[in-house]
Amino acid sequence: VDDLAPVLPVVGADTLVPLVDGREAPYANLDVAASAPALEAVAAHVARVLPLYASVHRGAGYLSQVSTALYEQSRATIGAFVGARADDVVVVTRNTTDALNLLAGAVPADPLTGRPGRVLVLDIEHHANLLPWQRSADATVLAGRGSIAATLDALRAELTDAAAAQAPYALVALTGASNVTGEALPVADVVAAAHAAGARVALDGAQLVPHRAFSLAHSGVDYVALSGHKAYAPYGAGALVGRRDWLDAAPAYLAGGGAVRRVRVYETTWLDGPARHEAGSPNVIGAVALAAAARALRGVDPEALRTHESALRARLVAGLEAIDRVRVVRVWDDAVDPVGVVTFTVAGYDPGLVAAYLSAEHGIGVRDGRFCAHPLLGRLGFDAGAVRASVGVGTPGSDVERLIAAVRALVADGPQAQYDVVDGLWAV
Ligand code: PMP
Repeated sequence: VDDLAPVLPVVGADTLVPLVDGREAPYANLDVAASAPALEAVAAHVARVLPLYASVHRGAGYLSQVSTALYEQSRATIGAFVGARADDVVVVTRNTTDALNLLAGAVPADPLTGRPGRVLVLDIEHHANLLPWQRSADATVLAGRGSIAATLDALRAELTDAAAAQAPYALVALTGASNVTGEALPVADVVAAAHAAGARVALDGAQLVPHRAFSLAHSGVDYVALSGHKAYAPYGAGALVGRRDWLDAAPAYLAGGGAVRRVRVYETTWLDGPARHEAGSPNVIGAVALAAAARALRGVDPEALRTHESALRARLVAGLEAIDRVRVVRVWDDAVDPVGVVTFTVAGYDPGLVAAYLSAEHGIGVRDGRFCAHPLLGRLGFDAGAVRASVGVGTPGSDVERLIAAVRALVADGPQAQYDVVDGLWAV
């Protein structure tokens, strides 16, 4: 894949970084799953909009009106990006974590018992799609089985048994794509199983929506959460998009200005719709950037995005697995169309050292650790962590080849310098 060109240009693609031997190398950003570099189109749009920004929803001045219009148009674009239904609410949040915490506070209590609503998750989730349910709902964590088929069977059985026992689930909250392996359960099967048992479906879309076409309306998914900084819009906005009834009935996520209809000193009437959960001055530039990224991503053929990233991922897996001592992490043996995330270990080398070596000797940026997915790494036997490489629309094939060659060199010759790795930071 050495000659595969990026599908969309990103800023910073020609950044040079210092190496341990005093030379410089072009930065190979293989950490797109953590935060994706901005698309050039996003950076250019933000630069055009920045001079126009003033208070949103709070001013009569011309620029306030412009900013309010930009913010509300961005909301509509973000909704369209994830195929929102006409009645869905698009709440602009800080990120996916924020969106899922908001939804966790909106799951209705069981009408019979008054207990917190039941939520079913898998043990492969990012902490953002585990801890909010652990804290605010009645969460059950299902261990993933060795195959997609067996995991779906277990999920179906759990949902039907709970419904039969008069303790039905309110919600199934699953990742749209694992941030460790790129894998996911097929959405259509999850939706069918959940809806048949009277449960709704929330998708953690952080790793899915930047990389695949996704539609709430077509899939039947009830809620999706996403992060702008993983979707090539690094300006601190995300979104929760989905069904209006739970969100309008929920307590306001934040208490403060902009979320209220009427306030007396001891009594407040809250607004409905997205404003209910968006108290405080909104992040208009974040929303504008996310909308610009959404437009740019939807402006290219989704099949072109998928083919590019799948080719890079397939090459990464094949290239790494061909190296003695390298092991690639998998949740399932029958995963279909995983997104461009590949996590691996190199026997005999601490993951932190591998990451330090790749940075210091090759100018390659990856992530190491347990990727905010401690239960999954633990179950699969990677408690000591692993190394993750991830790609996106802006990744050239040559970056992937550089990583494979660098790991091959590590296994053949060892590192050329000694690294002290403390809290993920390295020094020579
Ligand atoms: N879910 C998944 C699958 C993720 O990859 C991440 C980020 N690593 C999150 C949730 C949390 O995203 P954020 O930090 O933007 O809230």
